[in-house]
Amino acid sequence: MFSPTPSAAMEPEARPPLAVPPRPAQGRGLWALPLLLSLLFLIGVIVWAQRNDRDDREELRHTMISDALSLEAQLRARLDNEVVHLRVLAGQLQSGNGKADDTAALAANPEVAAGLRRLWLSVTWLDAQNRIKAHVPQIEPAPGPTLTANLNLGHSGLDEDNGLSAHLVAPMTGPGTPGDGGAARRAEAGSLVVRYSPAVLLKRGVPWWLARKYDVALVDSFDQVLASTSDAPAQGPAQAAGDSYKISFGAPSPDMYLQLTQREALQPWYRTLPMVLMAGFLALIVAATALLRRQVRRVSHAELAWRTEAAWRSAMEDSALVALRARDAEGRLLYVNRTFCEMVGLPADQLLGLAPPMPYWPPDAIDEVMLRNRRNLAGEAPREGYEARWVHRDGHVLDVMVFESPLVDAQGRQIGWMGSIVDITQRKRLEERERRQNETLAHHARLTMLGEVASTLAHELNQPLSAIASYNAGIINSVNKHAQPDPVVLGALERLGQQAAHAGRIVQRIREFLTRREPQQEACDLNRLVSDAVALLQRELQRQGVQLELRLEPDLPAVVADAVLIEQVVINLVRNANDAMSGQQTARHITVGTARAAGRFVRIDVSDTGPGLNGRSIEALCAPFYSTKRDGMGMGLAICRSIIEVHHGAFDAADAGSGGAHFFFSLPLDTEPVQEHMA
Ligand code: ADP
Repeated sequence: MFSPTPSAAMEPEARPPLAVPPRPAQGRGLWALPLLLSLLFLIGVIVWAQRNDRDDREELRHTMISDALSLEAQLRARLDNEVVHLRVLAGQLQSGNGKADDTAALAANPEVAAGLRRLWLSVTWLDAQNRIKAHVPQIEPAPGPTLTANLNLGHSGLDEDNGLSAHLVAPMTGPGTPGDGGAARRAEAGSLVVRYSPAVLLKRGVPWWLARKYDVALVDSFDQVLASTSDAPAQGPAQAAGDSYKISFGAPSPDMYLQLTQREALQPWYRTLPMVLMAGFLALIVAATALLRRQVRRVSHAELAWRTEAAWRSAMEDSALVALRARDAEGRLLYVNRTFCEMVGLPADQLLGLAPPMPYWPPDAIDEVMLRNRRNLAGEAPREGYEARWVHRDGHVLDVMVFESPLVDAQGRQIGWMGSIVDITQRKRLEERERRQNETLAHHARLTMLGEVASTLAHELNQPLSAIASYNAGIINSVNKHAQPDPVVLGALERLGQQAAHAGRIVQRIREFLTRREPQQEACDLNRLVSDAVALLQRELQRQGVQLELRLEPDLPAVVADAVLIEQVVINLVRNANDAMSGQQTARHITVGTARAAGRFVRIDVSDTGPGLNGRSIEALCAPFYSTKRDGMGMGLAICRSIIEVHHGAFDAADAGSGGAHFFFSLPLDTEPVQEHMA
């Protein structure tokens, strides 16, 4: 929910423009990975299957060759055996030469009977001209050439029961005269031909397990099947179901071949069960990948929407004037927005994870804020918000209004508190100013009333003071008329007259001041003004045992001001200093100084060694009617400040380095004539 707040939040102008955060590039094509891996796996399986298939075929072929060789050896042994028997028979017949009935002799021969029981179909005795001398078993005589031709077919004689037949030939040698060539005698004797059935040869010579495994056939050199263990008709060239191997018989039957054909052809690798299963697996993976792709697209769209929303939310949170902070149940900061960072002057990375006490709490009120924090975490924060005072990192204090609300997670469980904070420092200042203005209004009202009273009083005092001055002048005249006037009396009367005149001037100025007449602007020598003012108090200060020191800067430029009013300010400050030190056992010292101040100002300082201000501000001291004196009116400093401000100057106070109080005010050198003054 919370996006991290960048620490650059401290400079509002450095805020980046709103942009949707880019989607991370990695993982974009991850959805295709299962398909890719499956394809790789499939290719591996295909390669394996092909190699396996090739090996299997190779092995089968080797087995078939060895089976063929072994079978050929067995069959050849049988045929060789038959040839031996035939030769024995030929020998016997040869020795019995001269008998009239060759057929009877042939039929009576036990070798013939034994041969017919084994393999032989017929035995034919041919003379030297290939004419049949005898034939067993007896057959209908057929035209000689036909039979001869038939016999000459070699392996292709047709036997009704056993299909094609083959024959073995044993040459017969007749009795010859010594000295004759053997070849001539043999040619005269003829030959003995035995027809046998290759089918029977196969039936008896091929073991059952071999017949089950292979289709065993005897073929001639034209691939004509002579006999076969298969049930298929023995016509035409051998039909290859599977792999086949052909081997020649050699000597006993040179035109006959043994051919082994695998009964069951090995399935091609791509039609094996694993391949079929793999094809199904691939189809499933393709379907799953398509679904995955669709899902990934949906998630991507959702993610993009979420990112856009997060960016908007982050922008809104960061541009909000309200500071936001989220805290867990222990008060640890989980999230802060940009405004919050700006408010406390700390970057987000320094704030996140912080637990109470927080660095922005006022150090002098940690305990109090801790209590309030516990109350808030316990859920007892006022719903209408509460005011707090925080301290910015640069030290300035700010007043804030905090509104707490529960922070809930996606499951709706409360995991902490969400706080909205509004900076109300400005508002508080305005309120304070308004309050002061109201006070000032009330104060002005009182001053107006007081002014009326004072005006009346001044008016009333003016008459007696004038009377005192007149009487004093009369007395001086009358004393001067005496021949020996007492100089002491005369001096006292003159001073009385001066004081009465001074009092009259003061009363007159106060009247003017209170009746809103403009101050008497004149160029004042402040050094002289200060000297005159303290001279008036000199006696009183001496009586009190106060040491007065003047530190007047020579060549101080003249200031345009109402000298009487400024003098009253100095008198009031010196008098207050004296009052503050009254009854003090330690040394009493007042220093009054003048000096040029920066920015074309002159400055007047009055400091003492009294008890000091005790932490009271100038505001408190200048508050109307504020006084700590038993008979004090509390208007002196208020009027002093008004007089200085009317002259566009500044009035202030601080604790002096000597331990007492230090009041000071400044007046501008180039001032416009004062147009109005305090009421
Ligand atoms: P008042 O003299 O009638 O009390 P002021 O306005 O002149 O009225 O003074 C107000 C108060 O300021 C005094 O009562 C006193 O408590 C305080 N004050 C003024 N000057 C000094 C000073 N030099 N040292 C200590 N306190 C002072």
